[in-house]
Amino acid sequence: MTDTPTQLFIGGAWVDAADGATMPVDDPATGEILCHVADAGPKDARLAEDAAVRAQEKWARTAPRVRSEILRRAYEIILERTDELARLMTSEMGKPLAEARGEVAYAAEFFRWFSEEAVRIDGGGGVLPDGRNRMLLSRRPVGPCLLITPWNFPLAMGTRKIGPAVAAGCTMVLKPAPQTPLSSLALAGILKEAGLPDGVLNVVTTSRAGEVCEPLLRGGRIRKLSFTGSTQVGRLLLAQSADMVVRTSMELGGNAPFIVFEDADLDVAVDGAMLAKMRNMGEACTAANRFFVHRSVAEEFGRRLATRMGALVVGPGTRDGVDVGPLIDAGGRAKVEELVADAVERGARVLVGGRRPEGPGCFYPPTVLTDVDPGSRLMDTEIFGPVAAILTFDDEDEVVRRANDTPWGLVGYVFTEGLDRALRVSERLEVGMVGLNTGLVSNPAAPFGGVKQSGLGREGGRVGIDEFLEYQYLAVPVR
Ligand code: NAP
Repeated sequence: MTDTPTQLFIGGAWVDAADGATMPVDDPATGEILCHVADAGPKDARLAEDAAVRAQEKWARTAPRVRSEILRRAYEIILERTDELARLMTSEMGKPLAEARGEVAYAAEFFRWFSEEAVRIDGGGGVLPDGRNRMLLSRRPVGPCLLITPWNFPLAMGTRKIGPAVAAGCTMVLKPAPQTPLSSLALAGILKEAGLPDGVLNVVTTSRAGEVCEPLLRGGRIRKLSFTGSTQVGRLLLAQSADMVVRTSMELGGNAPFIVFEDADLDVAVDGAMLAKMRNMGEACTAANRFFVHRSVAEEFGRRLATRMGALVVGPGTRDGVDVGPLIDAGGRAKVEELVADAVERGARVLVGGRRPEGPGCFYPPTVLTDVDPGSRLMDTEIFGPVAAILTFDDEDEVVRRANDTPWGLVGYVFTEGLDRALRVSERLEVGMVGLNTGLVSNPAAPFGGVKQSGLGREGGRVGIDEFLEYQYLAVPVR
């Protein structure tokens, strides 16, 4: 903690906010203040934008191999510091150390992946139909980007955007979530060490997101917004991006259906449910939010899931043997409590959990609810906590209709041993990703993203870099 930067990172230098403002960073396991970091205002944001704009032209001309090797070095440094970064993340965000180590590896992998993609940016060309004209296609960086990230994956949500932006030759202003600024500041230090030129990445930590970001989006110099967060905020930022026709990528909220058919292997389904529900204490956009289980296996599935959930150890993420850390803050826990109370009022049975423990920290126990009424609020709200809500269904058409009956479409999970049914149902689900007999879809080599109100564009995979590139077409007549 003592070496972690707490200032803004602008033009390659660590600086205080212009007005000297700072903001506290809390430990959600104790409620105590860990440290204070600089709290940027609009003036700081403009300086960060100036630095990004100044660096853009030279950075765009930097050889792809050079950009690639910076990312590769950063990947290696992150892995060497896994323990240190995992502890930092656990202290500011709460997830257990084992999960934090997993996130460090996942985050680093985006840098390795995009270091490989940086040297594979393709163009193209050919003879046009008239036989006389030729075309040459090249790919150009879109320009200075504004990157806005949430608190739930403090390191990986940063590398998933910074990796392709660096690979493509874009400069950046990163605004991390105020709950988890330390991981982003540590990442900026690592990229500097890895040789990233001054001004290519600038980090502004702030408690005044709206005041800081809106002028950048409306100012005409930022050419791209890459946002991960709630659909509500995404919608607002899309509107702010419209005036200057800023290109946008949106990774927004989810409301994932988790479907268990009567022919599913229940051991596999319960393992999948533990992953899809309990990764990150349920604070994931990919978290299973609605469990639809065939009526004939619902009781057995609920019993087995409740046994597994009830055996998890809840406590501070830094403590050995802990499986479930605290939720991000008191507001996050209060929301989970309200959703559970509403479901119970409407007739849900609590198989395990359902009551917050006494004492400090924002803890909430793993909870399984069954006989959930479809009108319950948690059916159309991201729970963002360790609560599995089980409903039953009778046939395939019915469950597909109910699974799709939501404005979101990020991910769905399907458990069945039948290949025909697996493919048929996956294709009918209105989602950007499907976990087939698995509770985990995230992988840096795969395109991550949603349809409907879950977002626009994809991160990761071969297409992840496209979000940061434009085509330029050169018309060449041959006489
Ligand atoms: P959030 O409230 O939308 O905040 C996300 C980020 O946006 C934060 O940095 C936040 O800063 C900033 N922000 C909020 N209002 C803003 C404004 N007016 N202008 C500029 N920035 C603004 O979401 P969250 O609660 O942190 O994160 C949870 C949400 O993220 C969930 O909905 C989850 O599903 C989604 N998520 C999606 C993905 C995905 O890939 N699809 C991945 C992870 C999370 P402040 O907190 O200071 O407002």
